[in-house]
Amino acid sequence: MKKLLLLFIAIFLVQNITAQTTYILCGKIINTESGEIESNKTIIVKENKIFKVRSGYLAPKSTTDIVIDLKDKVVMPGLIDFHVHIEQEFDKDTRLNSYILNEADIAFNAVGFAKTTLLSGFTTVRDLGGTGVNISIRNAINAGKIPGPRVFTAGKALATTGGHADPTNGSSSSYLGNPGPKEGVVNSEEDAKKAVRQRYKNGADWIKITATGGVLSVAKSGDNPQFTIEEVKAICSTAKDYGMYVAAHAHGDEGMQRAIIGGVKTIEHGTYMSDETMALMLQYDAYLVPTITAGKEVEEKAKIVGFYPDIVVPKALAVGPQIQGTFAKAYKKGVGIAFGTDAGVFKHGQNGKEFGFMVEAGMPAIETLQSATITNAMLLKMDNQIGQIKEGFYADIIAVDENPLQHIDAMEKVVFVMKNGVVYKK
Ligand SMILES: [Zn+2]
Repeated sequence: MKKLLLLFIAIFLVQNITAQTTYILCGKIINTESGEIESNKTIIVKENKIFKVRSGYLAPKSTTDIVIDLKDKVVMPGLIDFHVHIEQEFDKDTRLNSYILNEADIAFNAVGFAKTTLLSGFTTVRDLGGTGVNISIRNAINAGKIPGPRVFTAGKALATTGGHADPTNGSSSSYLGNPGPKEGVVNSEEDAKKAVRQRYKNGADWIKITATGGVLSVAKSGDNPQFTIEEVKAICSTAKDYGMYVAAHAHGDEGMQRAIIGGVKTIEHGTYMSDETMALMLQYDAYLVPTITAGKEVEEKAKIVGFYPDIVVPKALAVGPQIQGTFAKAYKKGVGIAFGTDAGVFKHGQNGKEFGFMVEAGMPAIETLQSATITNAMLLKMDNQIGQIKEGFYADIIAVDENPLQHIDAMEKVVFVMKNGVVYKK
């Protein structure tokens, strides 16, 4: 008993000697909860959490404490991107890569993309589909083996045969195979349930479906509905059983309506969303993830001959220019907006561009920041842990040089990044 007590005291002492305290002196802090900018504050970080937030610049109590001087910066909570593809970065070789890269190759690429994402100020992301390597990437980041944002991943997205996320679209017959629920291709309610359970078993955090055609798949339609409403309902109710929400890629209005009524939580892109569908979004408490940056990117790249397969080009030219306008309209109608970019369709690390496009479309700068913090944290059921600089929250803290409420492009140049109390960029 005495030995045990001594052991506890020893552990207590060691913990208190090694528990590093960091004092971050902040000239300005954006309070994402109130929407106000506060001046001259000190954030005290212990281990991976925010221990205190105090007025004025506090002096450290011990010589081993660390002081970080951000007195001439604007500090805010780490950002959350609700739509990335951490495994890949689209270029003209992407189709070829799908035949020649092994999982290890994909993983090595993803290590770089994850680091780039973190260094651009995004301390949390939702990954909406890859091969399944994204689950291993999440685990490696959480285990501290590689630097990267906190990842919530859908693993492999679910499609119907020939649908946007059918991995064999456009393949020669020798590669076609017959993908089923295990591979993320479903064609009935039974398949749908099995595919969701398989994702759960694989370790996914969310379910992603491709409710309509998409731009970059090798298929003709970029907007047709691709699931029956019964299939969507089967997916959403099964996902609910396992504590997961469903995200739906959707450009066309009919597929979008089926997805919303079927129970998905977020609509990705939302390109051809009608007024009626915007009303449904409000009624069903579904959120729009705008991905304006991706729309701009595919429109631009489609003009380069040979960059995309021929079948993709007209879709990119039609869908790309629509997205920002739809976002503007949905925002005005009061549809909930969950900040998300589709990074991977464009270069990782440029996620911050989305803020400027949202402001350009009429959303006040502070609301874009709240969307990328408060709203996304809530949808991840992490609203008591991330998205604010507040006592007890994870120490995910970033800083920029200029006030983004006046110069939104400051969000493209994040100069300081701390995640979980560890400084990654200074
Ligand atoms: Zn995407």
